[in-house]
Amino acid sequence: MTKFVFITGGVVSSLGKGIAAASLGALLESRGLKVTVIKMDPYLNMDPGTMSPFQHGEVFVTEDGAETDLDLGHYERFIATRMSRINNFTTGQIYDSVIRKERKGQYLGKTVQVVPHITNEIQDFIFRGAKISHDDEAEVAIVEVGGTVGDIESLPFLEAIRQMALRLGDSMTCYVHLTLVPFLASAGELKTKPTQHSVQRLREIGILPNLILCRADRFIPDDERKKISLFCNVREEAVISVYDVDSIYRIPRILCEQRVDDLICRSLNLSLPEADLSIWDDLLAKFSNTSRIVKIAMVGKYVELRESYKSLNEALTHAGIHRQAKVTVDYIDSEMIQSVGTSKLTEFDAILVPGGFGERGIEGKIEAISFARLNKIPFLGICLGMQLAVVEFARNVAKMPLANSTEFDAKTGFPVIALINEWTRIDGEKERRHLSSDKGGTMRLGNQKIKIKPDSLAFKIYGETTLERHRHRYECNNILLPKLEAAGLIFSGFTEKDSLVEVIEFCQNQHPWFMGVQFHPEFKSNPRASHPLFLSFIEAALRRAEGLSNISGSQLKTKKLFKGTHETSRL
Ligand code: GLN
Repeated sequence: MTKFVFITGGVVSSLGKGIAAASLGALLESRGLKVTVIKMDPYLNMDPGTMSPFQHGEVFVTEDGAETDLDLGHYERFIATRMSRINNFTTGQIYDSVIRKERKGQYLGKTVQVVPHITNEIQDFIFRGAKISHDDEAEVAIVEVGGTVGDIESLPFLEAIRQMALRLGDSMTCYVHLTLVPFLASAGELKTKPTQHSVQRLREIGILPNLILCRADRFIPDDERKKISLFCNVREEAVISVYDVDSIYRIPRILCEQRVDDLICRSLNLSLPEADLSIWDDLLAKFSNTSRIVKIAMVGKYVELRESYKSLNEALTHAGIHRQAKVTVDYIDSEMIQSVGTSKLTEFDAILVPGGFGERGIEGKIEAISFARLNKIPFLGICLGMQLAVVEFARNVAKMPLANSTEFDAKTGFPVIALINEWTRIDGEKERRHLSSDKGGTMRLGNQKIKIKPDSLAFKIYGETTLERHRHRYECNNILLPKLEAAGLIFSGFTEKDSLVEVIEFCQNQHPWFMGVQFHPEFKSNPRASHPLFLSFIEAALRRAEGLSNISGSQLKTKKLFKGTHETSRL
């Protein structure tokens, strides 16, 4: 039967609870355990799919097409088990399930209450999430409770996990609390009081942590650890110092050095072989040995950029580690390009336009793509980035004036990117798009098989077929493909089922590396092996950085190109 490690957070949010859960997963896995991780989110939305990326950060997409919390991305990067829709649930889903049962009369006339009905439902969802396939379950499931102890929203989750110790009996549960130990410069000291108060809140609820992971910007000395131990009623060896490090992939090692795995195994009564962290140590050795630097410009909407592209940043870092290069990513606001032009882009070895929604900054992204095309700068367009590369090519090479995606100009005469039911509306005919009024899950989501054309750059990277994850609504318009192909755009990947465009590229003797992909390769990149597409992109950027590129733009061209008429407006 699955044993459970619960992770709660205290003092402040954004302490890296997800990374702590994932690192703990990696550490337990290195002792031979079958591990999974579950994230419980205490908000009422059914999933983060409809939430603003500015508020919520990246929406991570699982193989089975669930739109989930970005922490699931960390879990997949640290442990072997693949995440699916059962690994993340919200208060919204719990209440939805309970209310549906109530309407069906399944509670037999009882008063339906938070305790026990909501808390039982939470426990059922936790047990469901402990499965790693339909007939196999994890030996240890790590359950991360979203939010901070003391929040009203997370109380039912805390109550549910408290009850689980009672329900499952001895050695089946272990509680880990992650807190902040701030350094006060004015006092020149690390302060333990916030941790003491946060653990008090937890104990009021009835949870006594087995371990406290203390986040600090430095190593926490024994005196402070002793104090935390005494005031929080946790053994001193179980007060762990989780200090700032240069790479998140160092955390499993830091936890192991302080014997966190032994402490957890002891409380769960597991006797296992010693931890083997050699894959992580090898990775860190490569990470520390990066002699080369490659500079990437990520062009998007400024506010969204940092938190929204967690997986993408990680994927670039992974490729860098495996090519002994330090990848630096500069976030370039596409609205800035719209007002001051592309000159800033001359500093970079490669340009990347990531996925996104909404029309703000679109024309700036298109200008950045023109710049990469004309100046032979390695370019990768992901999802929206690919769609805009098609728009750019249509306007500036294939002579389709005002070509656009119908997402941004519903009346364009050349809807090179459109919802499938809009494909035939070429040249002015009016047809409104039929989006379901339910805004959740109305996209092409999750894993789909892609067939790759031989003799293409994509074929060099992937071979004949690949599986990649998706999250988008608009598709490249197949009716206009012949015109684009005739002008020189190569469509090198299609979905196996419906022949939808998945990959575009340029002829390899015309541009050193130019590719757009409708899918999101970043969701599949793993630090241990990297991802072939990102490896190839970083190699191309390195060739440019080191002056080895065989094709180069004669002179950097920053001329103003043909622009869409659509006024950019705020989202
Ligand atoms: N907005 C585009 C679409 O819905 C692209 C989405 C994305 O980049 N994830 O098709």
